[in-house]
Amino acid sequence: MQGGAAGLAYRGRTASIGFAYGPLVRVDAGTNGERIAGSLVEEALDLRKAIDAASGQIAELAAIAGGEAAQILEFQVALLEDEDFIEAIFTAISEGDAADVAWRSALDEQIADYNSAEDEYLKARCSDLADLRDRIISILRGGGGEAPKIPSGAVVCADDLPPSRFLEIDWSAGGGLALLRGSPTSHVAMLARARGIPMVVQLGAIPEIGATALLDGEGATLELDPSAEQLRLFEKRREIHRKSRASARAILRRPTASWRGERIKLLINIQRVEDLDHADAQYADGIGLMRTEFLLAERGGLPDEETQYRAYDAVMRWADRRQVTIRTFDAGGDKPVPGFTIDGEANPFLGVRGLRLCLARPEIFSVQLRALARAAVQGNLRVMFPMVTAPHEFESGRKLFAEVVQRLQAEGIAAMLPELGIMVEVPAAALAIATFKASFFSIGSNDLAQYVLACDRSNGALAPLMDPLNPALLELIARTAEHGRRAGTSVSLCGDMAGDPRCLPALLNCGLRELSVNASALAQIKQTIDRLSSGGGLG
Ligand code: PEP
Ligand code: MG
Repeated sequence: MQGGAAGLAYRGRTASIGFAYGPLVRVDAGTNGERIAGSLVEEALDLRKAIDAASGQIAELAAIAGGEAAQILEFQVALLEDEDFIEAIFTAISEGDAADVAWRSALDEQIADYNSAEDEYLKARCSDLADLRDRIISILRGGGGEAPKIPSGAVVCADDLPPSRFLEIDWSAGGGLALLRGSPTSHVAMLARARGIPMVVQLGAIPEIGATALLDGEGATLELDPSAEQLRLFEKRREIHRKSRASARAILRRPTASWRGERIKLLINIQRVEDLDHADAQYADGIGLMRTEFLLAERGGLPDEETQYRAYDAVMRWADRRQVTIRTFDAGGDKPVPGFTIDGEANPFLGVRGLRLCLARPEIFSVQLRALARAAVQGNLRVMFPMVTAPHEFESGRKLFAEVVQRLQAEGIAAMLPELGIMVEVPAAALAIATFKASFFSIGSNDLAQYVLACDRSNGALAPLMDPLNPALLELIARTAEHGRRAGTSVSLCGDMAGDPRCLPALLNCGLRELSVNASALAQIKQTIDRLSSGGGLG
């Protein structure tokens, strides 16, 4: 916190870029009131009614929200429809627990389970569960579970905000979200980004004061009861942001990006099909990375062939003739998957992850390869393997894939072997790049940096050392790009540094001409290339 003379300023982490100035409204779950328990039968009846009421409210919200938001709400509905889970709560009530006590303890147990997951995606589901817990408790306590009234354009401040509460707020007049805790990878952050609502998380403790607030999603600050000077500076920053967004989006509509006369291919990274709904995605030259392991995080265990095929096929249809690069499951390391990854490894980042794990579990890998081989006939598909160290791993993957294709064809199912490539994210692969007979290479700079710099990428304490511009990392990138140029093999980079304008000059100078970024970064990256190309700086 910085204490200003007139207004107090707090700094957090950016979850969604943008600016908001409006009344400050504190929102809390409000589930701490008292409730008097009735008989065992009354308690069971009250919980049944509360579940029905909550299901109705969530279904209504899902119908209005659509898309990804509806999917988040489906997660809550699925839990309410999970008979085993609900049955256990009614059993606790029949043994003497009050409805709210039984409900809370069952949900708290689930939340603790999800919270102990190392995977950020699973962790982020905690707020969905907390939301469901609080909605039902609020109904049980006579609160109806309805959302508090929020004035339009308000800066909403909460400890954490569940997605369904976010969806109940009318954001049509703008506004912003300031969370004392929260995470940039939570579902509510994804919703805020998708709707262009500025959001700052991890603001820490904020006093219960302040009638108005300035929220700067870019600088990650919240200023309470701002002075005239704070307001003036805020408006200035907002105007610069508005102008730069407008010109970046105008550049996005131009057909191609080029630097010193050479075409730069700009692709997007997606984690699920819904990411293609982003307004800027349509301007991409294709998909440079689809992280399929997120399919493994869906409820109901490992996805079957049809479920996977539907996802890959939807992506191929969206791309039409554009290039699509799908990465096979990159589970393990920081992405544990129950029933797939290996528990208890002393050092999972150096363990059986990525292609190593897939080759160790061919019965799971073959299902994915079948779905991919079927999707390949739809268009311009490339498939790449993650975490490859040695050429024989790549060859084993290719052999298995070819066998899968043969089997499908023998069954009379349309299938083909797509172009096969590898992620270059292990230093050994980057150093011995010429020994791989892959059709293309995609540099995973997030992991390559982790292994070259010997810094766990999820350890915040090492952030200052995790410098993407470290010369050792750039040297490996340049060598890979140079090999691609000489051998006529396409080389792209799909790690986070591709979406960081500060890294662009270095990446272009390393010889890269294909970059894959999140759709939300596409406009800014294209604009930065344009500026660099015309001799300007980073802007
Ligand atoms: C990378 O390692 O740079 C990468 C793109 O993959 P992920 O971040 O999913 O490991
Ligand atoms: Mg990686």
